[in-house]
Amino acid sequence: MVEKNISEVKKRISEAAKAAGRNENEVTLIAVSKTKPVEMIKEAYDTGIRDFGENKVQEIMEKYPLLPSDIRWHLIGHLQTNKVKYIIDKVCMIHSVDSLKLAEEISRQAVKHNVTVDILIEVNVAAEVSKFGVRPEEAIDLCRNISTLPGIRIRGLMTVAPFTSDPEENRPVFCALRQLFVDIDGKNIDNVCMDCLSMGMSGDYTVAIEEGATFVRVGTSIFGQRDYGVER
Ligand SMILES: *Cc1c(COP(=O)(O)O)cnc(C)c1O
Repeated sequence: MVEKNISEVKKRISEAAKAAGRNENEVTLIAVSKTKPVEMIKEAYDTGIRDFGENKVQEIMEKYPLLPSDIRWHLIGHLQTNKVKYIIDKVCMIHSVDSLKLAEEISRQAVKHNVTVDILIEVNVAAEVSKFGVRPEEAIDLCRNISTLPGIRIRGLMTVAPFTSDPEENRPVFCALRQLFVDIDGKNIDNVCMDCLSMGMSGDYTVAIEEGATFVRVGTSIFGQRDYGVER
């Protein structure tokens, strides 16, 4: 089932990219494997997927030693400062940085482990009270402040758009994130390299690609519904 789902998702990614006049290679599919067992991750791995997304530190810690070392783990969920040390040398990118305090701890741990960590700034474009992320107008200052820290490299922006049954409703959200991305890029801040735009989930990734996504984070459409007894 996983294999079939992945080929369907890849087909839709390719079609959406083409429709938008983009090269499909500009879009990386992150298979969001939270709550899903290692066996299913292996199935996805065997189809060639190397980018996996998890939203909990504990879950990455458990899965990491059981799976191939060439997997690129993306932390996509809220990260508590006191847990940074556990995943600093395991993840390829942290998508959910939304405070200077968190960035400072990532920097501290990165220097300690002698690594450079790629991060995205999470932006709460739709200003939903239930969501993490900075407000769009705070993003530039946060980028400036983080850009001076060692061991950390800002690569772009991420957003979690509202849950909706009509993906078109999220087009303005994706469009706004893309605009902010271009604005920040135009500031030419030292040590900030805006080349990643993480937006789009199972319900709306084709629209996100049309609006410029370079990472789409797809869980349900690959692995099926999650067991809500397990999820936060
Ligand atoms: C769970 C999750 C996803 C995947 O959502 P689906 O709707 O299952 O594709 C993407 N991004 C984040 C931040 C998530 O927590």
